[in-house]
Order: sequence, then C-alpha cells, then structure tokens
Amino acid sequence: MIVVIRLLILSMAVYSLVNCVLIAISAHISGFVFSIISMILFVVAFVCSYFWSSFTSYCALNVYVLIWTIANVVCFGWNIGVQHFIITLLVFCFFSKYRHEKAKFVYTAALLILRIYLYYYCQSNEPLFALAPELANILQIVNTFFVFLSLALTAYIFSADSQELEGKLIEYNRQLMKQANTDTLTGLYNRRSTMEYLDSLLKNPENQISICLCDIDFFKRVNDTYGHDVGDVVLKKISDTFRKELPPDSFISRWGGEEFLLIFPRLNGDEAVFALDSLRQKIKEIVFDGVIETFSVSLTYGLVEYDYHSDMTTILKEADEKLYIGKESGRDRIIF
Ligand code: GH3
Ligand code: MG
Ligand code: MG
Repeated sequence: MIVVIRLLILSMAVYSLVNCVLIAISAHISGFVFSIISMILFVVAFVCSYFWSSFTSYCALNVYVLIWTIANVVCFGWNIGVQHFIITLLVFCFFSKYRHEKAKFVYTAALLILRIYLYYYCQSNEPLFALAPELANILQIVNTFFVFLSLALTAYIFSADSQELEGKLIEYNRQLMKQANTDTLTGLYNRRSTMEYLDSLLKNPENQISICLCDIDFFKRVNDTYGHDVGDVVLKKISDTFRKELPPDSFISRWGGEEFLLIFPRLNGDEAVFALDSLRQKIKEIVFDGVIETFSVSLTYGLVEYDYHSDMTTILKEADEKLYIGKESGRDRIIF
C-alpha cells in the first residue's frame, strides 16, 4: 500500500517537474511558480510518507491531489486534462486495503460530483492563467501519459499483490488439507480420510478390491524394552516400508496406534496375499537399533476381498476378526 502511495506521489512530482519545464519554456511566470510549488509540495509529501502511517499518507495523498486538481483546473482550465487524476483516486480508493465499503461509495459519488462541478465551472469561468493552445495541447498529452502511468502502476502493484496472496492462500489450504487428512508421525492417511476414501471406493467399485487390517506384534513390549521414541522409529520405518513395497495405487493408512489399514483398489484377494507376503518378509528383515541390542518386528494381517454388497462396517469387522484369528493362532501371518 505504502509503496503504491509513494510511487503515485513520485509520479505526481515528476509530472509537476515536466509541467515546470514546459511552462518555463513558454515563459509563463505565474504558471511556472504554480508548478514549482506543486512539485515541492509533492516532494515534501513523498518524504513525509516515510514518517506517517500508510493510512495518514493515503488520506494526505487524496486531499492533496484533490486540492491540486481543483487548483490546476481553476488556474489552467479544462483543456489540459488534469481532472483525469480524479479517476486515479477513484481506482486507488477501491484497490486500497481499507474495508470501509460505504465510505468508498460515498467518496465515489463525491468525486463524480466534483468532476461534473469542475466541468460546469470551466464552462462559465475563464482560467486564471491563459496558456497558449499549443502548450495546453502538450500538457493534455503529458497529463494523459501520467494518468495512464499512475493507473497502470496502481493496478499492476495491487493485482500482483492479490495474486501473490491467492498463491499463499492456496498453499496454506493445501497444508491444512494435508494436516486434516494425514497422521503427523508417519505421514500416512489418518482414519478420517481413510473412511472417506473407502466409502467412495465401495460406492463405485471398478475392480476387485482387497482390504487388510494389520497390527504390529507385541508392540507394547518394544515400547517397554526400548522406550517410546524407539517405538516411534519403528512406526515410521514400517510406514516407509509400506510405501516402498506395496503397489503404487495402494491406499495406506494409520488406523490407530500400531494398527494400519491397507486398501488395494485393483487387487483380488489372492493378488493381495502375494503382495502382503512379500511385505511381511521385508518388514521382518528390518533391523532396528534398540541401543543395547538390535531387534526386529513382525505384523499380523487380516485380509478381506470385497464381495460387492457388504457395507464398510461389515468389511472392517471381518478384517478385524481375521486379524484377531491371526493373533490367536501365533501372529506374523496373513489370514485370508
Ligand atoms: P499384539 O501383538 O496383541 O498386538 O500386542 P501389542 O503389544 O502390539 O498390543 P497392545 O494393544 O497391548 O499394545 C499396543 C501398544 O502400542 C501400546 C501403545 O503404547 C503403543 N502405541 C500406540 N500408539 C503409539 C505411538 O504412536 N507411539 C508409540 N511408541 N507407541 C504407541
Ligand atoms: Mg499390536
Ligand atoms: Mg493393536
């Protein structure tokens, strides 16, 4: 905001300088004095913007440009086109970060009335300083240039700003979504997102689907013997192994504690057994550092093939029952 304000003030100061030069060339003393005072005041406003808050600078810029526009129209008339700067103020007002919507519309109406009033004023009053028609034409072109410049500056900076903001918002939303859908320790999908996924998958089954609930064997013993931190390392390493060893389209989630739900959206039961058996071997081969000694862990797997009519609760219950059978019959096995 403050950058746009400073750039606008600066462009107005440059504009006044150009006016000074042009009017000086035509040896118009009063016009020259007017323009040089304008330029000095814009330079003062520019310096002040470093000491004022952006809101004070914004108000000062508006008041100053308004007074300056009125003074220019009264002094040099309608033909030099200085009244177009009112449109810059209008655009700036709507792009500004201040959220007083009503005030913005009141201000718009005030600017409109002022512009119409100035037009009628010029119809019935001669300018104080009459300029040669050639000089008025040149000033009209210079004015048009600076009005375009200030409008383009305002629009460019604010639109770049809002695009950057939008980008940040998209990224922030993505992170929020990720946090809401994943487990922080393992980075796997959490129970909530898994239920959503499974629900939608079972509603539109395109292939055979297999679902496996698995659980680390004697994990409490790992925590008790080697500490909770080592237990966390085991959870993370096993999660990485899932990601590495299972088919790429597998949906891998931490169902809770040391239980995981694996969904294979394109595998029948036999194919899933094949994939799980390879995974079971790989996990058993991992050597964990328990500081005093090394150890390894195993998992027990309860696998179900979707029968195209059971609901989610029934399937999960069936997988849980199979997992229980696996635990009861000695662990480290796949029950299908
Ligand atoms: P079983 O073979 O019958 O599954 O035995 P178990 O010891 O694995 O099962 P139990 O339910 O008795 O213990 C599970 C343990 O998992 C207890 C709990 O402290 C631990 N656990 C759950 N979540 C976490 C976690 O995020 N980090 C760590 N380190 N441990 C966890
Ligand atoms: Mg366990
Ligand atoms: Mg458990």
